[in-house]
Amino acid sequence: MQRIYLDNVATTSVSNEVLTEMLPVFCESFGNPNSLHSIGRDAQSLIDKARDRVANCINAQRGEIYFTSGGTESNNWALIGLAMANKSRGNHIITSQIEHHSILDTCKKLEKLGFEVTYLPVDKTGLVDIASLLHYINQKTILVSIMSANNEVGTIQNLKTIAKICQEKNVLFHTDAVQAVGNFRIDVKDLGVDAMSFSAHKIHGPKGVGALYVKKGVKIEEYLTGGEQERGKRGGTLNTAGIVGFGKACEIVSSNYTVDCKKLKYLRDYFISKVESEIENIKINGHLHQRIANLVSISFKYVDGEALMYLLDMAGICVSTGSACSSGKHEISHVLIAMGLTPEEAQSTVRFSFGVDNTREEIDFVVSQLKKSVEKLRQISPLKVTKNKV
Ligand code: PLP
Repeated sequence: MQRIYLDNVATTSVSNEVLTEMLPVFCESFGNPNSLHSIGRDAQSLIDKARDRVANCINAQRGEIYFTSGGTESNNWALIGLAMANKSRGNHIITSQIEHHSILDTCKKLEKLGFEVTYLPVDKTGLVDIASLLHYINQKTILVSIMSANNEVGTIQNLKTIAKICQEKNVLFHTDAVQAVGNFRIDVKDLGVDAMSFSAHKIHGPKGVGALYVKKGVKIEEYLTGGEQERGKRGGTLNTAGIVGFGKACEIVSSNYTVDCKKLKYLRDYFISKVESEIENIKINGHLHQRIANLVSISFKYVDGEALMYLLDMAGICVSTGSACSSGKHEISHVLIAMGLTPEEAQSTVRFSFGVDNTREEIDFVVSQLKKSVEKLRQISPLKVTKNKV
């Protein structure tokens, strides 16, 4: 059976160009980048090249990029490292209610260590309330961490406004850009962020590798001790093949993103218009315009999202009910609840996320299967009442 992959926000396939650059690293340039001999130096020069590519992609300098094992580690490190290095200035951190768990759970950990954390509300489109941000920043605030784009509904935050407020109040600003890099052009200098997390596997690079950008001059405590790698801040032998792949993926993103985004927007809008014309009682979640190109979150009234996901899976269509990380936990989405959806609406939600390889014909097939599956589930739904729209 042919399978159609519409879960590109969870992860993407490694592109051929990325794989081609990675393969020789495993058996030829396999040396430890810290070794002084020629095979070690080969690996080190590949890492240098990758660091430049990753830095160029976000308009950073190479010395501002630290390689990590991915978005989760970058987020953990950013919050803990910045909080610890700046604790003499205060103990208050601000984040939002719709962050990824790698931010929220780290904030909970910091609360146990004596930090105070404010979780800002969002409006029904998923935008952080700027008035609340201004209200809660105080003399003790040292760090604001707000994601660039949400992984469940795609809403893009008003990053420049938030960065400007943080600059004026002399507070550090970190953003989780895992879903943003590759989706729209990110220029860390222009945005005015102090730290930023991103990850390779969301942009057709390998899993298990990512980066933390830390602006020159910003103090951050080291994360992994026991080695001088990453300028003494993150010990451990570097994952050369992964980093090489990440570098290539960043280079591709930098040169292709305008064309890719145009295609993704076309597929997304085509999908939305077809679903809206063929299926009743639905609600599209997130901001209508200020959102990433490849994601659509839809609540289907009287339908259990998980059951819908499994029916689509049986038809060869891979989608997800929420964020990949929490979908295994059977939890109601904290993002959708923060945006004001009822628990029933949240549980009736499915996320469709497109990739550049998807086609219009695939979308036609997906919508026909979706229509059938939704009708089937509504027929057996105990919640079904025939009238009113969501
Ligand atoms: N932040 C966001 C917004 C994400 O969507 C994800 C992964 O889905 C992460 C962080 C974690 O990234 P990684 O899978 O590289 O650890």
